[in-house]
Amino acid sequence: MLDILSVGCREFARFLVLSPCAISRNINYNVKTVVTYAEALEAIESREFDACLVNFDLADKSGLDLIRKFAASEVSMPFILIADEEDDQVDVEAMASGAVDYFVKDQITAPLLRGAISYGIERKRTERRLAALAGFDELTGLANRTGAQLAIFQLDLDRFKQINDTIGHMMGDHLLMKIAGCLRECCREIDTVARLGGDEFAVIATHFNDHDSVEMMARKILANISEPFTIVGHTVHASASMGITLYPNDEDNFERLLANVDMAMYRAKTDGGNSYRFFDANLNGDIKRQRRLGREMRRALEGKKFFAHYQPLFDTKSSRVVSAEALARWRHPSEGFICPDEFIPIAESASRIDRLGERILHTACVDCKERQSQGLENIAVAVNVSPSQFRRSDIVGTVMRALRKSRLNPALLELELTEATVMQDFEEAANALQRLRNEGMRIAIVDFGTGYSSMTYLKHFPVDRLKIDQSFISGVETELGDRAITRAIIRLASGLGIDVTAEEVENQAQLEFLRSKRCNSVQGYLLGRPATLNEFVESISGQNSSLSVAS
Ligand code: C2E
Ligand code: CA
Repeated sequence: MLDILSVGCREFARFLVLSPCAISRNINYNVKTVVTYAEALEAIESREFDACLVNFDLADKSGLDLIRKFAASEVSMPFILIADEEDDQVDVEAMASGAVDYFVKDQITAPLLRGAISYGIERKRTERRLAALAGFDELTGLANRTGAQLAIFQLDLDRFKQINDTIGHMMGDHLLMKIAGCLRECCREIDTVARLGGDEFAVIATHFNDHDSVEMMARKILANISEPFTIVGHTVHASASMGITLYPNDEDNFERLLANVDMAMYRAKTDGGNSYRFFDANLNGDIKRQRRLGREMRRALEGKKFFAHYQPLFDTKSSRVVSAEALARWRHPSEGFICPDEFIPIAESASRIDRLGERILHTACVDCKERQSQGLENIAVAVNVSPSQFRRSDIVGTVMRALRKSRLNPALLELELTEATVMQDFEEAANALQRLRNEGMRIAIVDFGTGYSSMTYLKHFPVDRLKIDQSFISGVETELGDRAITRAIIRLASGLGIDVTAEEVENQAQLEFLRSKRCNSVQGYLLGRPATLNEFVESISGQNSSLSVAS
C-alpha cells in the first residue's frame, strides 16, 4: 500500500485508485487530497506519505513554493508537479526546485503517473543511501562530515536491456556482478562503490589530487568495462556511460549534486555511450530540453505526431526520380518541426527508438502504397534504420509487419543501414540482412567510406546499394583525396554490380563530376529537398524537371 498525498487536485485519486492496471497488479494506493498550501504543509510534516502530487496552481500559493520548501529538506519524499498547460519555464523550474517529474494534466495516463511515483520513491531511497555513504548528513543533506573533496561518478550500462534480452537474465546478473567487480578493481580501498539499482552504479572517491586524476579514473573504469567479459563460456561485450560531478566545486547540496551527475550521465549517453562527461552548468539547459523532449516523445508516439518527409533520389542517366528517402519529422505542439538529428539520439537513449522506428517504417510503407495509387507505381521508398533498432532481434518481424499491414510490394522497400551498424555484430547482421533480402527487400549501406571496416565485408554481405558519404561529396570540387575516394567507391560498386548514390549533392559542379564518373544516382538539395508526401507527389507528377534543367 502506498500513501499518496494529492495537493490541489481531486482527479489524481481517480487515476491511481481506479485504473484497471493498478487493480490487476494489486498495487493499492491510498490517496489523501488536500486543497490549500496551508493544509499541505501540515500533511507533509506528518510524514505519513510515500509520495506527493502537487498541482501547479494552489488556491493560496504556487505548487512550486511547496516543492521548494520541502524538496531539499529532511522530508525525503518525491514530489511530482502537475500543471495545466505545457510550459518550458515551469518544466525547468520544477526540476530546479527538486521535483522528480513534471506532467501536463491532460497528457497524464495512469501508467505514466504510477511509473513516475515508483521511480520517485526509488530515487529518494537511493539518495538517502548515497548521502550516508558519502558522509553527508542524512538529515540536511548538507555538510559533508569529512570535509574532503568528493568526486561522484554515476554509471549506466549501455543497451543493458538488449544484452539481457539476448543472453538471458541469469547471465545478465552475472554481468552485473562482473561490472561491480571491475569497478572495485579500478577504485581504491577508500572509495565507495554502490549499485543504485538495475544497471546503474555509483562511485564516490575522496582524496584525489586534481581534475586530471579524476579523469584518469573515469577512463580506466570505462576501458575496463569495455574489455570483453567471459560469462559461463560466452563472450559478452558491454560499455557504460558515465557522469561525473565534484564536491564542493560544482555544488554543495547533496541532492543537487546527484541531479548534476545524473544530467552529466544522461549527456554521455546521448553522446552515443561508452563515454564520460563532467557536469558543467551549461549542461543544465540542454539536458532539460532533452529530458523534456524524451518525455514528450512518449506522448507524441501515442498521439501520432511523427510522420515522414520525402527526399527524391534521381537516376543520373534517365534524370527520373526512382525513389524517395523517408526522413522522420516530429510536429511538436509548441516548437514546430523538430529534426531527427535532435530526436533520434534522444529516442535511442530513452529506449523509444523501437516504437519510433516502427512508426516511421509503417508510415513510409503506407505512403509508398498511396503513391502507387496516384500513378507513381515504380517509385520505391528508403527507410533509415538506426543501429539499436537494427540490433534488436525482431527487426525482420517489424519490417514484415509493416509490409503486411500496408500491402506494399517488398521490392519497393529499401532499408538504409550505416556501415558501423552492420559491422558491429557481423554474423548476426549478415544473417538478418539475408533474411530481409530473401523477402525481396533491398539493402543500402550509408555513410560508406567513413567506417574503419574492411571492404571485404561487401563480399559477404547481401547489399544492393552504397551511399557515398556527404563528407566526400562536399569535397569533390576542391579536394583531390575526396575525388579519388568518390571515384573508387563508384568503381567498386560498379565492379560488384550494385547501385551507388551520392548524398547531399548541393551544386552543379558536384553533379557534373558524379555524372562524368558514372555515379548511378544522386540526392541532395540541388535536386530536391525533403518535402511532405503531397508536395513530393506533385513535384514528380510531371517527371522530371530538376536534372534535365541542370544538365
Ligand atoms: P541521412 O540519412 O544522412 O539523411 C540525409 C539528411 O541530410 C537529411 O536530414 C536531409 O534533409 C539532409 N540533406 C539532404 N540533402 C542535403 C543537401 O544537399 N545538403 C544538406 N546540407 N543536407 C541535405 P534530416 O532529415 O535532418 O535527417 C538527419 C538524419 O537523421 C538522417 O541522415 C538519418 O541518419 C536520421 N534519420 C532521419 N529519419 C530517420 C528515421 O526515420 N529513422 C532513423 N533511424 N534515422 C532517421
Ligand atoms: Ca539516409
